[in-house]
Amino acid sequence: MLENVKRVILILSGKGGVGKSTVSTQLALTLKERGYKVGLLDIDLCGPSVPYILNLEDQNIHQGSEGWIPVYLDKEQKLGVMSIGFLLKSRNDAVVWRGPKKTSMIKQFLEDVYWQDLDFLVIDTPPGTSDEHITVMENLRSVPQCSAILVTTPQEVSIEDVRKEITFCNKTGIKIMGIIENMSGYECPTCSECTNIFSSGGGKSLAEISKLPFLGSIPIDPRVGALAGKGVAAVKELPESSTSRVFNDLVIRI
Ligand code: ADP
Repeated sequence: MLENVKRVILILSGKGGVGKSTVSTQLALTLKERGYKVGLLDIDLCGPSVPYILNLEDQNIHQGSEGWIPVYLDKEQKLGVMSIGFLLKSRNDAVVWRGPKKTSMIKQFLEDVYWQDLDFLVIDTPPGTSDEHITVMENLRSVPQCSAILVTTPQEVSIEDVRKEITFCNKTGIKIMGIIENMSGYECPTCSECTNIFSSGGGKSLAEISKLPFLGSIPIDPRVGALAGKGVAAVKELPESSTSRVFNDLVIRI
């Protein structure tokens, strides 16, 4: 049920593995740290990694009288999480469904989860622009404010696919909040010097060419990967990092 949601932020990427789930969870955690009431909905049916990142893999979804009850990360119920991953028996289980079944599951996730008065619902979407995305867009019409953050790595192949995401957003009328470049160079943990392993700046140039806000560069940071699975916020664990700066700046802009 989205009636209780003030604002939806969709996290989109052209490719898988570029850090979409990492950005979704870190954004949700940062918003929660700022005192907002947040929902995190993982509809990446092929690779639902949010339960793993937040160390919630052993949790199950419960059915309440009002609908499905999200899994809450904290006692105060400031961050509720819902993911297809909670329905799978193990992390290695694959969702082998045809399009209609996938879209009906996503519809159920959007219509049947009982979110309690959320300031923000962050949605981690599958990569690309598929039927699942169209279903999401159709179901978001009732939400007063809805926007998208596009995540890319610096390589040209990833950038190319983000162009398609921009076209998709323009066609479906969703406002693009901006572009984040992830895995943008390697930042040495001791001296903070950044080495551009692939390339760097592609996301920023795309933002400039497309006249979209650039929301920051997140370096390859082994601590980000290491935090996954522990269920803690990078912003808490990495107070002085470029990663935490990107998310802190992001919530100020939102
Ligand atoms: P996606 O959701 O786009 O498939 P993920 O967020 O699951 O991508 O990230 C893919 C992998 O890369 C994960 O193991 C994650 O921990 C790692 N990762 C993502 N961003 C970074 C980063 N900036 N530095 C180091 N590892 C990262």
